[in-house]
Amino acid sequence: MKNSTDRQEKIVEIIGGQTGSSSWSNWRWQAAHVIRDIDTAARLLGVTFSQRERKAFLRTTARFPMSITPYYLSLIDTDDLYNCPIFQQAFPTEAELTIVKQDMRDPLAEDLDSPVPGITHRYPDRVLFHVSNLCAMYCRHCTRKRKVGDRDFIPDRAQIEQGIRYIEETPAVRDVLLSGGDPFMMSDEKLDWLLTRLRKIPHVEIIRIGTRTPVVLPYRITDELVEMLARHHPLWVNTHFNHTREITESSRRALAKLADAGIPLGNQSVLLAGVNDCPRIMKQLVHRLVQNRVRPYYLYQCDLSEGLSHFRTPVGKGIEILESLIGHTTGFAVPTYVIDAPHGGGKIPIMPNYLISWSTNKVVLRNYEGVICTYEEPESYKAVFCDRNCTQCQLTLKLDSADEWRAVGIEKLLADYDLTTALIPVDNERSARRVS
Ligand SMILES: *Cc1c(COP(=O)(O)O)cnc(C)c1O
Repeated sequence: MKNSTDRQEKIVEIIGGQTGSSSWSNWRWQAAHVIRDIDTAARLLGVTFSQRERKAFLRTTARFPMSITPYYLSLIDTDDLYNCPIFQQAFPTEAELTIVKQDMRDPLAEDLDSPVPGITHRYPDRVLFHVSNLCAMYCRHCTRKRKVGDRDFIPDRAQIEQGIRYIEETPAVRDVLLSGGDPFMMSDEKLDWLLTRLRKIPHVEIIRIGTRTPVVLPYRITDELVEMLARHHPLWVNTHFNHTREITESSRRALAKLADAGIPLGNQSVLLAGVNDCPRIMKQLVHRLVQNRVRPYYLYQCDLSEGLSHFRTPVGKGIEILESLIGHTTGFAVPTYVIDAPHGGGKIPIMPNYLISWSTNKVVLRNYEGVICTYEEPESYKAVFCDRNCTQCQLTLKLDSADEWRAVGIEKLLADYDLTTALIPVDNERSARRVS
């Protein structure tokens, strides 16, 4: 691969900007010069595509458009183009047009669980707030692929106001997750306005921002941006690195700025066939992340969105990757592997099994090395019947009424004070057969 500075200079020259780093490291310049067509991409990369490839490209982009920042494009390895993880995440292939029987339009039912436009309220205490329809780079594996290529816009204040109002009127929401699109495609001013509004809501304890800009547009992380963000703590940022090839000098600087501003950083990777479905690649990735003060948060099984079948791996690949991480490396470098359940079931954690058997007084466990051991249960533990009457309890937490909650789901089955003994689906055939 050519020297990256030469590559950058050449790209700036062809696109038409100022050489030196003034255009290159200006995020607005980068965003204004995203590459959307195959001819420009070919010219910038110095490669030629066959007539067949060009036709396939046009067919694919008619349905799922392309957008690559000059920066992200410059990371492509032209010596091994089709295996390059950057190329695979950014460049359309005809495989995206293949719809398989498992595919769904909105597998996570985000549109269904939406009380007002822009809000997905799935879990009891937190909401996903889509505040931007814009991304600098269109990831080929986007779970919201159905929306990619919709008119690019940042919802106007009136629409965002609707979401803010919903959060204001829903005291259960203590955690707001800004998503999109990419929230960092908003101007500093607008983001500042939004964060100020959210901060004024007394029950909103934390705000999180999900962004891929440190990966595809690291120059977006400016001193002014982090200075503004630091005024809205506690604020957390999650980013999306899938491969160590994405961790460059520029992205390291972006991460350092965010971390220096006191923002805890997390990373959400997607397990992608041909890109990172390898224990060694994932181990290297999590090591580079923690070196840059980013905690691997989630590893996602690829969703069932239309056009992603070529990226999907068996779930076993994810378990194999976790098996290679747990115990083998730093505990906080191990992400939680999740399947975002179809029909809006939310994220379900998946793990290798470590609890291999149990009896009334001991459990049998295995560790990462294959050592099998037992853990004897305490003999003296007195189970306390919990009736939610904290005044009778010796534990010091005295719940006031504001903290009172209902048990939900499996938690309900475990609770002493709830008489539910089974969760039975409403459309169970057996119950339909019963005589009333
Ligand atoms: C992922 C997600 C969240 C946040 O989940 P955490 O496990 O708390 O990170 C919230 N709402 C929706 C709809 C989500 O998909």
